[in-house]
Amino acid sequence: MQGYLIAGLPIIKQGDDIASLVKSLFDFQDGDVLCLASTIVAKSEGRFRNLENYHPCDRAEAVARSTGKDPRFVQAVLDESADVLLDEPFLLVRTRFGHVGVNAGIDQSNVGDDRILLLPQDPSASAERLRARLEKDCAVIITDTCGRPFRSGVAGVAIGWAGIAALRDWRGECDLHGKVLEITLEAIVDEIAAMANLLMGEAGDGTPAVVFRGLKYPRSGEDSVFMPEEKDVIRPHLKR
Ligand code: GDP
Ligand code: MN
Ligand code: MN
Repeated sequence: MQGYLIAGLPIIKQGDDIASLVKSLFDFQDGDVLCLASTIVAKSEGRFRNLENYHPCDRAEAVARSTGKDPRFVQAVLDESADVLLDEPFLLVRTRFGHVGVNAGIDQSNVGDDRILLLPQDPSASAERLRARLEKDCAVIITDTCGRPFRSGVAGVAIGWAGIAALRDWRGECDLHGKVLEITLEAIVDEIAAMANLLMGEAGDGTPAVVFRGLKYPRSGEDSVFMPEEKDVIRPHLKR
């Protein structure tokens, strides 16, 4: 397996054609897995917002007081949220597309002054659109750097994917001693996203695109890495 950083991408602006840009910088082959930082996908989709255009409601004002955040930023997070899991000491929410993240994944770094950048509205749809433009049979994973419950340090996770199953199903396979695995679903898109995020860097590296070649992965599956609420045993304990 090889991993390649796609170097030479410009600062992405609204309307930029990311598929054309990566194709001009990298010669894709069937089976490649292209990982893109959600930041550049969001930029190309014009997900920039100005804080001055948000008018905080009473709830946003109250959360802003308890978190020390700008109430307009809190309003932006609430607008992107389908459900609020925690509102102090930070806002942990479920986005409309199912991902649970701090501040709905809204970024203020690598964006520029006085602006915020929302996550893509439907990252798997973005991944599918990009995949359709690559002209080869590739997978696309859209990544974001996230904190993780119970563990220190941030890591890359997949927030959208296309051309690859989110989970590899090991159920029914035998372990080394012949015991049949009963519950193992492996979150392969997150594992790939974590490695891609490591190669991308977090600061001014300017490398938001990584390709893995020679990975074996299942191509299709309906499953998601987003835990359905009814199966989540932790979430009920967070609800006030
Ligand atoms: P996130 O993890 O999706 O929130 O994205 P980051 O802000 O951590 O950026 C990931 C990588 O992409 C870092 O290496 C950044 O320097 C780089 N990056 C972010 N925006 C741009 C851009 O517009 N153009 C280029 N070339 N690199 C960018
Ligand atoms: Mn981010
Ligand atoms: Mn990052």
